[in-house]
Amino acid sequence: MSVPADEPGNPAHAIFERFLRAGECREVLGCFGELCQQLGLQGSGLQLYHGLKAALNYWSAKALWSKLDKKAGHKDYDQGTACASTKCLVVGAGPCGLRVAIELALLGARVVLLEKRDSFSRNNVLHLWPFTIHDLRALGAKKFYGRFCTGTLDHISIRQLQLILLKVALLLGVEVHINVQFKGLVPPTGKVGGQGGWRAVLQPGSSPLSRYEFDVLISAGGGKFVPEGFKRKETRGKLAIGITTNFINRHSRAEVEVAEISGVARIYNQKFFQNLYNKTGIDLENIVYYKDDTHYFVMTAKKQSLLKKGVILQDKADIESLLSPENVNRDALLSYAKEAANFSTNYRLPELEFALNHRDLPDVDMFDFTCMTRSENAALVREHNGARLLLGLVGDCLVEPFWPLGTGVARGFLAAFDAAWMVRRWAAGTPPLEVLAERESIYQHLSQTSPDNTNKNISQYSIDPATRYPNINLQAIKASQVRDLYLVGMVE
Ligand code: FAD
Repeated sequence: MSVPADEPGNPAHAIFERFLRAGECREVLGCFGELCQQLGLQGSGLQLYHGLKAALNYWSAKALWSKLDKKAGHKDYDQGTACASTKCLVVGAGPCGLRVAIELALLGARVVLLEKRDSFSRNNVLHLWPFTIHDLRALGAKKFYGRFCTGTLDHISIRQLQLILLKVALLLGVEVHINVQFKGLVPPTGKVGGQGGWRAVLQPGSSPLSRYEFDVLISAGGGKFVPEGFKRKETRGKLAIGITTNFINRHSRAEVEVAEISGVARIYNQKFFQNLYNKTGIDLENIVYYKDDTHYFVMTAKKQSLLKKGVILQDKADIESLLSPENVNRDALLSYAKEAANFSTNYRLPELEFALNHRDLPDVDMFDFTCMTRSENAALVREHNGARLLLGLVGDCLVEPFWPLGTGVARGFLAAFDAAWMVRRWAAGTPPLEVLAERESIYQHLSQTSPDNTNKNISQYSIDPATRYPNINLQAIKASQVRDLYLVGMVE
């Protein structure tokens, strides 16, 4: 049997190639563990990265190292020494937790990342702004996923994005632990012979990571998880019911020819929505269709049409009861989603067959977007027995996105860079209130960001906010205004 070019008889090369191609979270971690064992490498951080690089110096691996070296060579990281004595805990291996973990690793911090699940199962597709595509290419995305943003494509499934970022994070020495849930903080006891630093309460409690002491906690646990101490603000809009659905993509010629819909809103194309309504009884505010690993549709549906089509059984004033499983006819929901998908693609996608979700059920979901939350602040500091802990939020746990606009990952990455910048300032010994005031000054801009009002020179983007936000005033908020973000004493 001939040996493929990438596997010139060296078992480590073969394992590395398997690692690059691995398509499941556990498989990625398994291959990585095998690789380190095969190479006799231990430890973490950039030291591990340098060990891997030295051991895997054949052409295919070298192409990836040259990308990562270029990235790591940026002046913001001070050659991996900017945060060399900082210990970070990152909660959540969603795209934003992984992305911030990568930046912290490049800054030279020790980074432990916890994820309560053990699989990446979201088929749903995220819209990528040009800077996120550029950013992911610079991290070697194409090496891990050859189809990454080919041609004019500007989207990726959530699970593929997680896989790419997980691989980069591991190579840069991030310590990733799955099936571990963060439950809360343990303040330092400060007693002689006691624990000197902040630790985490974890599930399972037997996890050796319960002993890990850290001085920075970044929460990237998604929309439903926010650590204690942060206040949430609700933004209540008019009733918005979102439906997402995924169909199997067989990549046939007929499927390739069907045009994507990168976002049609009712106000821009009344005729389309009127025709849809006349023909099918489906009444939508907007619809997006992306052709990715799956055929992915996200739409905002009007309540009356969901009632009329028997998707929602009974009208109810409170939205939670309205969309509760008991009040939804799942078969009618599947038909509604399929009909909308068929109509909006001119019935050109042959034999639409639902892709399956992590429960092995047709991948169709209905969500409420009427009320979305954001955190009032992006960071805070806790101090107990003289030990300080910097806490920052990124991603959906900072600001929940409206999916049909697909802003989640772009604003999530911006916040990940901002959080990494904050940790850099913290590690440099900047007074805590100054760090917090600067972080809040930057956070003020996040919800208004768009590809049009962020800097055009995306190749220059770095964790430094000035490279991304034009004319940003980093002192817009003063240290005296953030005193209540410095909490002294016990965790409630
Ligand atoms: P997430 O991607 O939600 O990741 C958070 C991670 O933290 C998860 O893996 C979770 O398991 C883990 N976690 C949570 N709590 C803990 C804890 N206590 N301890 C350890 N780990 C924890 N956006 C769109 O634009 N279009 C879509 O169609 C779309 N579909 C979505 C479908 C679902 C089911 C969800 C949850 C989100 C969806 N989003 C969608 C939002 C999009 O995924 C996010 O905007 C984007 O992934 C960035 O999210 P994140 O990394 O901040 O959080």
